Amino acid sequence: MPCTPYGLVDYPLCTTPEPGGWQEVAPGVLWIRLSLPFQLDHINVWALDGGAAGWTLVDCGLGDPRSRAVWEVLLRDALGGRPVERVVVTHFHPDHIGAAGWLVERTGAGFATSLTEWLFARTLSAGTDEATDAVVERFYRRCGLDEEALQSLLARKGAYSRGVPTVPATLTRLRAGDRLPVGDRQWTVIGGSGHTAEPVSLHRPADASGPDLLISGDQILPRISPNISVWPSEPDADPLADYLASLEGWTVLPADTLVLPSHGRPFHGLHRRAEELALHHAERLTEIETLCAEPRTAAAVTRALFPRPLDPQQMLFAVGEAVAHLNHLIRKGRLERVAGQAGDLAGGPADLYRRSARRNAVMAPA
Ligand SMILES: [Zn+2]
Repeated sequence: MPCTPYGLVDYPLCTTPEPGGWQEVAPGVLWIRLSLPFQLDHINVWALDGGAAGWTLVDCGLGDPRSRAVWEVLLRDALGGRPVERVVVTHFHPDHIGAAGWLVERTGAGFATSLTEWLFARTLSAGTDEATDAVVERFYRRCGLDEEALQSLLARKGAYSRGVPTVPATLTRLRAGDRLPVGDRQWTVIGGSGHTAEPVSLHRPADASGPDLLISGDQILPRISPNISVWPSEPDADPLADYLASLEGWTVLPADTLVLPSHGRPFHGLHRRAEELALHHAERLTEIETLCAEPRTAAAVTRALFPRPLDPQQMLFAVGEAVAHLNHLIRKGRLERVAGQAGDLAGGPADLYRRSARRNAVMAPA
């Protein structure tokens, strides 16, 4: 009997660790909860007991002094002062990789993730230059953001390297299908794409001690829809196509897999949740296509999708998510983008999105 059913997933565990606390969720697997100073106020990280070889940590929290102090206590108490063999991160976002550089230095552990996630982290933590700043500004102007929103986004410059002060300088590269031995158990790397370019998830098959386990990172979460965004560095990308393909891929795992997500609580219902998220995106695509019966900027679409007030960080994710859906609709021939049609918005005309002429022709009555 699940503890608290919610929607299409259920939660088999009745307790949640306090911030900085931990509990065992399967033999040899600790669920550690770290707090975050955002609206998304926590992250789950995982410690896998490799016996004499030491612990494998999966994700790290931010790299700020507060997380480091919490880790000092965790290393001593939760991990019993035993060695850390490796630090794996699921993807390059600061709440996942932030403390990795420090942890690797502090414990002598190895570091593992996919090549793409590592390169993103290395690049972003190195900071930016004028040409890159100009690309960022142009992208958000073309989205049609007003001057105030634009300036608050641009003021976030340097936020990445504040959350991720160092990134390990060497890597054990993980690829989909790789086996990761932890003690006498094997975890398998599951690939995917969408939330970021090449995130890593880890799967451990069922054995006498319990069901299949999936450490899913942010690729599938029980309550929130993982952010799928287009960023200024790749303005024509279609990460939603990658994400939808990844959602279909979860069917290779058994339906009763216990999913260990980065946010929220461990849950059952992987297949149902994947279907629910696919449906959410399909509905959002239809909603946006309908909105664009009247030509609109990406900013106008963002406001329609996310009518509540957004802080600058939320605004970045919201605009990125809107553009991801717009790009996908363009790729599917359902919308078209008309460059620079929305008047002069403080320094440059914004793009407009509208129903594609081809689509209208098909849909027009004979
Ligand atoms: Zn993330």
